[in-house]
Amino acid sequence: MKNFDYLEPASVGEACALLKQHGGDAKVFAGGSHVTILMKQGLYQPKALINIKRIPELKGLKFDDAEGLIIGALVTHRELETSALVREKFPVLCEAEREVANIRVRNMGTVGGNLASGEPLTDLSQIFIALDGKLKITGPTGQRRLPVEELFIDFYTTSLAEDEIITQIVIPPLPPRTGIDYIRFSSSSVVDKPSAGVAVRLTLDEETVRVARIVLGCVGPTPVRARNAEALIVGKKLTTELAAEAGAIASQECSPASDLRGSEQYKRAIVRTLARRASTNAYERGLGDG
Ligand SMILES: Cc1cc2nc3c(=O)[nH]c(=O)nc-3n(C[C@H](O)[C@H](O)[C@H](O)COP(=O)(O)OP(=O)(O)OC[C@H]3O[C@@H](n4cnc5c(N)ncnc54)[C@H](O)[C@@H]3O)c2cc1C
Repeated sequence: MKNFDYLEPASVGEACALLKQHGGDAKVFAGGSHVTILMKQGLYQPKALINIKRIPELKGLKFDDAEGLIIGALVTHRELETSALVREKFPVLCEAEREVANIRVRNMGTVGGNLASGEPLTDLSQIFIALDGKLKITGPTGQRRLPVEELFIDFYTTSLAEDEIITQIVIPPLPPRTGIDYIRFSSSSVVDKPSAGVAVRLTLDEETVRVARIVLGCVGPTPVRARNAEALIVGKKLTTELAAEAGAIASQECSPASDLRGSEQYKRAIVRTLARRASTNAYERGLGDG
């Protein structure tokens, strides 16, 4: 590893100023679970690491009736998994977190780092997109909000500027009669990261689907909404046949690569099953909600 400066700003403003000052030669360091590996492999050779771990405004979880669940970028996977507040408001996040990586990574890795890495084999992005999550981002010129869906551009590439920091992730309150499910699949030989993960959120009018989000993760360079499958089920009651058809359509709306986690065909078959099951579960939960 090459030598680098190690800096510990006390505020987001200071961190952004340091990033700007270093141009593309500095990297944000949160939990370090991703950065450290890439530095050891020589893929990142930053001249400076900007450790944001001590910045208080990036920490904490809270719920606001108007805004919803506000997740500080430094909240770790383990905090999300074990939070009573999250369990009450968005239990799907606690359930998903139980399967993320291993306890060591969950203790170190942060939600902000998970998203900002642009790593495709992750779990949270597809759930946040299904929940219409937004990011609060700060840069040297001020703050902006960005739908999580618009963060991801390509493999390990996001729309964040070099001098911007994710400060919070905001999940709006759910309308009544909303059901959510997330199902991930890991191949038995490679258990750490998922081969595929599908998040579904359905909001119903009586028994009819009014809003549908079907989001496919790990099966392409970025998470992707299965918009044709969503369009198929909106305005209808979700029958077994319709859920199966939506799964089949969703499996054609991603671009999985053949790799050690499975062939392209195998991953499409997994997506087909996960999308069918998650849609059915989300629908049943929506019927039982309110
Ligand atoms: C063995 C292993 C298994 C894993 N399995 C899973 C899994 O099953 N599911 C899953 O979802 N993930 C998985 N991951 C990914 C893991 O969740 C992420 O590595 C972790 O969340 C990254 O957070 P961090 O704080 O450690 O990020 P860091 O390593 O500190 O940073 C990651 C990247 O984001 C940037 N960054 C960090 N925070 C911010 C911020 N607030 N604003 C702007 N940029 C920022 C950094 O500059 C860097 O480029 C796994 C990782 C490992 C190593």
